Amino acid sequence: MSDFVFTPATQPSLAVAGTAQRFPVSRVFCVGRNYPWSDGQGRSVPLFFMKPASSVIDAQGEIAYPPQTEEFCHEIELVVAIGSGGADIPENRALEHVWGYAAGLDLTRRDQQRAAKQAGMPWEGAKAFDGSAPISAIQPVSRQGHAQEGAVWLQVNGQERQRSALQHQLWSVAEIISHLSRSLSLLPGDLIMTGTPEGVAALQPGDRIRAAVEGVGQIDVQVGPRAA
Ligand code: MN
Repeated sequence: MSDFVFTPATQPSLAVAGTAQRFPVSRVFCVGRNYPWSDGQGRSVPLFFMKPASSVIDAQGEIAYPPQTEEFCHEIELVVAIGSGGADIPENRALEHVWGYAAGLDLTRRDQQRAAKQAGMPWEGAKAFDGSAPISAIQPVSRQGHAQEGAVWLQVNGQERQRSALQHQLWSVAEIISHLSRSLSLLPGDLIMTGTPEGVAALQPGDRIRAAVEGVGQIDVQVGPRAA
């Protein structure tokens, strides 16, 4: 028995590759971009934003086309799964806090984001919606080591839309963890979506998305119908 006034919502979690165990998700931090884009925007202080843990789903089967958008966009990203928390983590100790890695989609209502930016308003609604973070099974560091290099790519209906490689990230995983931990205390179960290469574009109902972070995880999902 507990003192909760009702049964708490289900703990969000992700599959762990090769086992029946689940990784309990605490919070989801995201980094803006983090690869060179041809518009020339380079490295500045990493921009962090969040998605609710409840937006995390196993990347399989059908993903829902969200309401209130005409421009539902894909962003393939390396996801870092934090196993032990901390604050003010130095760069040279940062990777000790990583439990594993996954491939994830930072799904975005781009029209909402653009409108919010133009109005000088927060663009949380563009990023935080049901199912906005489909993520592959997590590969434990204990089995696969750290994700240092490897291709990052995404295809829609067999056509390539995004391709880069982890070694092109503007901010390394260790730098991202160190930066974020100076802003707030990281907790076990936190996920960090580390930003996407250029080539982000809109999805249509029925589109088949295949994507991967090489050596880390693969995604194969289909976009569902628009809500009636
Ligand atoms: Mn993103």
